[in-house]
Amino acid sequence: MSSSLSKQTSNNTQSIPEQIALLKKLSKNLWWSWNADAQNVFSELSPRLWSKYNHSPIKVMQNVSEAELAATLSEKDYAEKVQSVLARFEEYLSEKNTWAATHADEFTANPVAYFSAEFGLHESLPIYSGGLGILAGDHIKSASDLGLNFIGVTLYYREGYFQQHLSMDGWQQEEYPLHPASTLPLEPVLDDAGKPVTVAIELAHSIVHVCAWTIKVGRAKLYLLDTNLEENEEHYRDITCHVYGGDATTRINQEIVLGIGGTRFLHKLGIKPAVYHMNEGHSGFLTLELLRRELDCGKSLDDAIAAVKPQCVFTTHTPVPAGHDRFSRDLMDYSLGKFAETMKIDFDTLMRLGKEHHNEPQNQFTMTVLCLNMSRAANGVSELNGVVAREMWQHLFQKENPNDVPIGHITNGVHTKTWMRDRTEAFWSFYTNNEQDFFSDPEHLAEILERIPDDSLWGLRYRLKRDLIEFVRYRLERQMSRTGMDNGFWASDFLSTDVLTIGFARRFATYKRAPLIFSDIDRIAAILSNSEKPVQIIFSGKAHPRDNEGKKFIQRIFQISRMPQFMGKVVFLENYDMNVARYLISGVDLWLNNPLRPLEASGTSGEKVIAHGGLNCSILDGWWREGYNGQNGWAIGKDENQPSTHEQSELDAKMLYEILETDIVPTYYARDSRNLPTEWIKKMRASILSLLPVYNTHRMVRDYCEKYYKSGKNA
Ligand SMILES: *Cc1c(COP(=O)(O)O)cnc(C)c1O
Repeated sequence: MSSSLSKQTSNNTQSIPEQIALLKKLSKNLWWSWNADAQNVFSELSPRLWSKYNHSPIKVMQNVSEAELAATLSEKDYAEKVQSVLARFEEYLSEKNTWAATHADEFTANPVAYFSAEFGLHESLPIYSGGLGILAGDHIKSASDLGLNFIGVTLYYREGYFQQHLSMDGWQQEEYPLHPASTLPLEPVLDDAGKPVTVAIELAHSIVHVCAWTIKVGRAKLYLLDTNLEENEEHYRDITCHVYGGDATTRINQEIVLGIGGTRFLHKLGIKPAVYHMNEGHSGFLTLELLRRELDCGKSLDDAIAAVKPQCVFTTHTPVPAGHDRFSRDLMDYSLGKFAETMKIDFDTLMRLGKEHHNEPQNQFTMTVLCLNMSRAANGVSELNGVVAREMWQHLFQKENPNDVPIGHITNGVHTKTWMRDRTEAFWSFYTNNEQDFFSDPEHLAEILERIPDDSLWGLRYRLKRDLIEFVRYRLERQMSRTGMDNGFWASDFLSTDVLTIGFARRFATYKRAPLIFSDIDRIAAILSNSEKPVQIIFSGKAHPRDNEGKKFIQRIFQISRMPQFMGKVVFLENYDMNVARYLISGVDLWLNNPLRPLEASGTSGEKVIAHGGLNCSILDGWWREGYNGQNGWAIGKDENQPSTHEQSELDAKMLYEILETDIVPTYYARDSRNLPTEWIKKMRASILSLLPVYNTHRMVRDYCEKYYKSGKNA
């Protein structure tokens, strides 16, 4: 293989200064975040800095001198790796023969513009809080891979989402370190004179100026809006400080900047999107800016709405009425009143666009209602989420039958390569001869799986679990030196690779019921401590800073992890982020998800385990309700809701214990003469084969393209 690499690169060898320039270019294109070889090129420069800076190529490059770089690049082995990565990078950027070139050429001149309040692209870029952001990040990466003309729009949160530490008694502490643009892969958007391009927006009683940054995500581009400009009053400079920061006023101001600011910014740059895709209601104000433009042309309100609608599609996630953004009339008047004056309609008319109940006095403005009213098509993010959304908005559309409500669904996926650990990527490369999209076609995948022997699959599992456990021990040691620890316990003794390992990690929103498995503390203690068939559980996750109930869940798990019967078998890992997630989803044998049905809109973390051979055990909610086929993992409970929350939690806990005791644990420990768990491995194969081709964002973005983005589509 190395000979073919050197052959490939020998005839286009660049000089060392050229290579340094190209490496810098590479460090600023997030393409590296889904290419393990590219990451290795940076990590090899300094493994310690790589780890210290949470895997940021930019920061590694900033800390290695040109002299060192030049010297390292004259080393043959390293130079060959660099040349091969750079060649692949350039090839990727110039590829013409993409899926979109043959299937979605109507977007060649006019891009899809995807607005999202958060984007989870990489752990070194903390502008996401959870699944919604991860979905956006994975969406833009697949759009790039498929060659779709696609731009993302979000905010540049210079203090990002918080870093989590636990206090001595397990209470979540939040820290917001500054992430200066110079240390991130951001480029300012400048005009010909080198000055920042800005747009002005009417906000509260002022004019607020907005500039923007860009991040290259492969062939796609992400714009990040920023109000931190000297010409703005101090409190407006902080609008874009934290992900979902502050109170309702900050929230509406962020949404005005995202929706109205974002749309004006694209307009100023001369970008004319073919379609605006709103990922959740936060960006809904963009429709008001589009409406303002149509009204300015002299159209009537009805005609103006009819002109805006064909340009917009909307994805709704939240399955509970209380979860939707609603702003009071007073707040709308305060923050948006000045903008409303620039529209050729009065404030009451504007308020009616977000009016939920036809017969009630209007004192609230609902963002989801605005988005539904102003979009040509809308969708939920799983089949069940679509059903729930149609029922929830039935009154708005005044339909007798919820099936007539025009909201469809596209089930979420994950960007497969982003979520592969390098070890897993090497494993699949070995069995597929470096094929890129080997996972898309089930028949082809079946052939590949047949080539992989059981012991190889099981070997991969062991190695990934070893990596995870070493990572957890390392993190826990530092964590425990801060939070205090009983004498005689060392993190280096915690957890074992021979033990069935369950993972649970996600935002600690209460509906996700993190402590459910501890409902009957003696029963779970007996399951974990069975000397012949032991089990261990690793938890991680952040609660929203204002969610005290979520913080209590964290505290409870922290306290349980210190009870003698759980010590070393139950751990809580601080500061969940994409890096922690990647270790967890790759290393655990079983991924547990036990939300209160039907509140998990889709859930994506369980989709990340598939390529690593991990199995899912989940409530039949979100994607798992569609993915589960009886052979490829385990379902907790039935495809139905219980009459009360309390009853449902009791029943779900009981079903979870039963399935662990009678099926999951025995299957894991049933070994053949070679010590292989043959039934378990069968399930691993069934999981990979049935799920990998479907629950990925390549499939998802193709679906969006065919069913929603193309003009006239309103599936
Ligand atoms: C994948 C992921 C999520 C989403 O998890 P769900 O299972 O959808 O709740 C949240 N946070 C991080 C860091 C992730 O990697």
